[in-house]
Amino acid sequence: MLTKEDYQMYGLVCGRDNCYSFCPMCGSELIFREVDGKIRPVCSACSWVYFINPPPVVCVVPYRGEEVLLIKRGVAPKKGEWALPGGFVEVGEAPMEACLRELKEETGLVDIGKVDLISVESQSGNRYGSVVVIGYAVQVILGEEAVPGDDAQDLAWFSVKELPKMPFDSFERIVNRWLDIF
Ligand SMILES: [Zn+2]
Repeated sequence: MLTKEDYQMYGLVCGRDNCYSFCPMCGSELIFREVDGKIRPVCSACSWVYFINPPPVVCVVPYRGEEVLLIKRGVAPKKGEWALPGGFVEVGEAPMEACLRELKEETGLVDIGKVDLISVESQSGNRYGSVVVIGYAVQVILGEEAVPGDDAQDLAWFSVKELPKMPFDSFERIVNRWLDIF
């Protein structure tokens, strides 16, 4: 049975939730074998290859004038800390759709203005090894009221001059890049 240590021995990065020991297709044991020039976990029975890819996450910078809307995280990781809204992209969903869905779920905001792609970052983490973080800036229409929902305990508008440090490096890079270019 493959363990996280076995993965690490081959230089494979995986996290708490994706160091598979068994094939998700047929349930047989995974073994290491070379595929496409790299050692990868492969099913010993059906030859399914486990390509370890980082899942995509969206990160939203909701802004109006010189203020950014942050949520107090209601779930781990970094529960209780102020951060940009965000979450995983679902299958069949475009990243921008995920951005607007997460914004709606966490802040109730639906009537929004301009949406701009800021940057795409990588974030290492315990759960999946790493994730790809897609950062968008979303202009909030004046008068639209945000209410905390879903994974948010609370929310508040922060002046761009008094933004707290983000609990994830990638979020920090995204908000700083937004401050640089917009
Ligand atoms: Zn299999």
